[in-house]
Amino acid sequence: MNAGYATEQLESLLAAASADTEKGKVASYIPELAKEDPRQLGVSVCMPDGSILSAGDADTPFTLQSISKIFTLILALCQNGQQYVFERVGKEPTGDPFNSIIKLETIKPHKPLNPMINAGAIAVAGMIQGKSVEDRLNGLLDMLRKMTGNPDIRINEAVYGSEKKTAARNRALAWFLKDSGVLDGDVEETLDLYFRHCAIEVTTKEVAKLGMVLAADGIDVVTGERIFPEEVARICKTFMVTCGMYNASGEFAIDVGIPAKSGVAGGIMATVPKRMGIGVFGPALDEKGNSVAGVKLLELLAKEWKLGIF
Ligand code: GLN
Repeated sequence: MNAGYATEQLESLLAAASADTEKGKVASYIPELAKEDPRQLGVSVCMPDGSILSAGDADTPFTLQSISKIFTLILALCQNGQQYVFERVGKEPTGDPFNSIIKLETIKPHKPLNPMINAGAIAVAGMIQGKSVEDRLNGLLDMLRKMTGNPDIRINEAVYGSEKKTAARNRALAWFLKDSGVLDGDVEETLDLYFRHCAIEVTTKEVAKLGMVLAADGIDVVTGERIFPEEVARICKTFMVTCGMYNASGEFAIDVGIPAKSGVAGGIMATVPKRMGIGVFGPALDEKGNSVAGVKLLELLAKEWKLGIF
């Protein structure tokens, strides 16, 4: 692919998608996120040689939010193995909003249906090993710093504090999981780890690189280092297809057809097996919590570059 021409294409597709920013609203249940300008839109693409092409707001920092659920799952699988992880969290999509509580009680055995909903990700956070919250978080940050090549990846403290203060629903989920025996250990500590990993700050360039590591089955294409096993990458990409876009995952699979994971700050990480990682940022969200213009842009890009995997 010619980099100059591909960048021009990215710019024109971004311009076409940016009108859709007006169709959404920034997340406000985490007060700090409500401060974002809804008109922003950025995209980066990381190629198998590690080169990155970008258009729009590609240097604007935003928090990973639910995109981080992929990376805690990677760590939990590497530290505990599949059997342990999937005894405590399921593999099925829910059809419910990401913060829903209802099926925790109605489905037996009592465990979250998958690791991409909040309940499942809180359960996964409970599996991350380490001597303290700090230590558990550092394991994750170390992996993300290595994968992005950016040693300065850190938490946005304002977003972290803002979520921690207002997280009644996530607290309810966590304490329900404790009661069901899914979470053991200190619940508030695990919640603290969850809020912190959601508040890890990145740009679309870094998200594109993270997506490329998954596209390369766990290998960092820049250093050639294996970061996690191929089997772990396969599991994550499958969850991205079935549950990555919350209860819009089916629609997204048909309209776009790329494994992807979104977050309420407006980020989306997409991974085209063997071919590229894509990072998108557009904080105006649809009613299910996905970036409106971000989804549109991925749809246009998938058509233009024939990226759909199906
Ligand atoms: N931190 C957010 C929450 O728990 C993450 C949710 C999301 O990005 N969908 O509500």
